[in-house]
Amino acid sequence: MPARAGCSAGDVAGAVRAVAAVVAEHRVELIQLDRAIGDGDHGENLDRGFKAVVSKLDESTPDTPAGVLKLVATTLISKVGGAAGPLYGTAFLRAATALGDATELGTAEVAEALRAALGGVVARGKAEVGDKTMVDALDPAVRAAEKAAGEQVSVAALLSAAADAAAAGAESTVPLVARKGRASYLGERSAGHLDPGARSTMLLLRSFADSAGAS
Ligand code: ADP
Ligand code: MG
Repeated sequence: MPARAGCSAGDVAGAVRAVAAVVAEHRVELIQLDRAIGDGDHGENLDRGFKAVVSKLDESTPDTPAGVLKLVATTLISKVGGAAGPLYGTAFLRAATALGDATELGTAEVAEALRAALGGVVARGKAEVGDKTMVDALDPAVRAAEKAAGEQVSVAALLSAAADAAAAGAESTVPLVARKGRASYLGERSAGHLDPGARSTMLLLRSFADSAGAS
């Protein structure tokens, strides 16, 4: 547990920078996953988007966690094409709105932000659990986060539980037939592959958990 009560804007900005590094590290893997059941741009899209986010943070870091997440949202929406840009953008935007002007985030705020992020993805993409999308990773992550928030654990432990649930959720997409997004054009042939967006969601959550644990 960090010495302070929660996560500040600086902590969140640091976590977002770490996410950018993780996305860069997994760029090729995400491209390959998307090549199998989509058009192969997922790793490229996210890497370009998060590199642009880091450039913006280098210019100036907003002074609230919500400000940082809003910067991520607007940058991803403007820089990332395809389905994932607007979906992740909406997720970060809704999370920012849920946080309001809070300056330090505790477990309740983080769980609320994750719930809001899921709401944004579902509002925008209309996918349900089982459709073989990022929702298959994010939905169980939110439920794990809410459970953890009721158990007086640290933010790092909450995010770690969310990342574990997202990892299991992402794995669960392998046998599924896609019902949303580009992969759905393949019908039955989409089965037997990990969904790239579910994988990236899991990577983002794991990275946030690692950053919270290190602060
Ligand atoms: P595109 O499919 O336009 O090339 P990306 O490759 O960047 O976009 O992202 C693909 C990922 O987006 C999929 O693996 C899936 O997880 C996610 N996705 C696609 N459509 C939806 C949707 N309607 N709801 C939720 N997630 C979706
Ligand atoms: Mg794609």
